[in-house]
Amino acid sequence: MKWTQCPQCGLLAEVVDRDVWPSTDGPVEHAHVRCADRHRFVLPVASLALQHHEAPPPTARSETTQIRRT
Ligand SMILES: [Zn+2]
Repeated sequence: MKWTQCPQCGLLAEVVDRDVWPSTDGPVEHAHVRCADRHRFVLPVASLALQHHEAPPPTARSETTQIRRT
């Protein structure tokens, strides 16, 4: 399961399904997204990755803490 941000309202949104659609540049993977307010979108996975990148992984914080303690 992967989480992202709703493009319409900005709430937490869940990637519920994935599809590969053919295009003139070759197949493009799309994600079906459903947000906490029940908006539904189908977006290219490439644009999802950009939004997901803004949130730092939770493990990064604990690693930083360990470095400071040492
Ligand atoms: Zn929404």
